[in-house]
Amino acid sequence: MASMIVDKADEKIIHLIRPDVQKMQVNHVPPTRGMIKLDARENPYTWPAYLRGEWLEEMQGVAMNRYPDPESTDLKARLRQVFDIPHSMELMLGNGSDELIQIISLAMRGAGRKVLAAVPTFSRFQMISAFAGMEFVGVPLSEEDFSLNMPAMLTAIDQHQPAVIYLASPNNPTGNVYSQDEIGQLLDSTHALVVVDESYFGFSGESMMAQLERYDNLLIMRSLSKMGLAGLRLGYLVGSPRWISQIDNLRLPFNINTLTQFTAEFALNYFDVFEEQIEQIRRDRIWVAENIHRLKGAEVFPSEANFILFRVARGSANAVDASLKQKGVLLRNLSDDSPLLRDCLRVTVGKPSENVAFISALTSSV
Ligand SMILES: *Cc1c(COP(=O)(O)O)cnc(C)c1O
Repeated sequence: MASMIVDKADEKIIHLIRPDVQKMQVNHVPPTRGMIKLDARENPYTWPAYLRGEWLEEMQGVAMNRYPDPESTDLKARLRQVFDIPHSMELMLGNGSDELIQIISLAMRGAGRKVLAAVPTFSRFQMISAFAGMEFVGVPLSEEDFSLNMPAMLTAIDQHQPAVIYLASPNNPTGNVYSQDEIGQLLDSTHALVVVDESYFGFSGESMMAQLERYDNLLIMRSLSKMGLAGLRLGYLVGSPRWISQIDNLRLPFNINTLTQFTAEFALNYFDVFEEQIEQIRRDRIWVAENIHRLKGAEVFPSEANFILFRVARGSANAVDASLKQKGVLLRNLSDDSPLLRDCLRVTVGKPSENVAFISALTSSV
């Protein structure tokens, strides 16, 4: 009986669910309890006790019986202030920047439209493009320093006429920023919407924000995740009101819930606390990089983000990864993700004690 129901459900599924969706395989993240988690590019610091106390105190006044403000008016005003968003530009919020990528994808017209990105990069660009039925074109970065391969980018733009181009700067997982001149050349070379993803801008200090006035096809996307609020899910998109109002038509009215609006606004009132944490991470990034560099056979790539990409001796990445895991340290093994990342691992900069534990585990693993 039960199996008949299963069979019948399968029949309906085959008939009703998109064939490309039926073929998708989503990776599930293994449990990580008790591990030193340096795999997810999170800020390792929690809030100081006085902040948590004040937050809980103020939260008592939040009306959970009411729907959220669909425009997130107060939070947007705060974001504008804290991040110096030009007055002439509009702001749209997403439930994490991954929702923004999803909404942008849904907004693009025409069947068979393409998304282009310099790769290796944030896997969400490709994943969400696939969900939206868009074709993804990945153009490899330069092999030596992961800079944009401009001739290859320009050729691919010409050949594929993409609707959207994503450029993450600093890029994940490589950690480098792209030249603003080169981003400008790409903007000039295409009719595509170019989304510069600045999720790590706090760690690099570089931004295309001042260029928004200059290009009519540029949007800037950012997230509070790497700054220290990954659990909150808040991303923001900045650009001309013309673009933003179109894309905003597809945003569900209550995508930013009341707790997120309240908590993000609260946290931004204490932005200096997060700035201090970011400064600490930037300092510790140097320490971690130097200590990986000391190890025999290891190559460290310069990083402007809160993580470090490094290469271990040829053919040893999987063994090093397994050994670190066994010693309780979790990082990201990218060795099989792209030919450019052969033997590469990515480690998030953690608290000093975590960094020491990582370096010690790595020293006995390479
Ligand atoms: C982490 C990251 C984000 C942030 O995603 P959220 O959904 O906002 O947490 C966006 N882009 C890149 C390149 C990232 O690495």
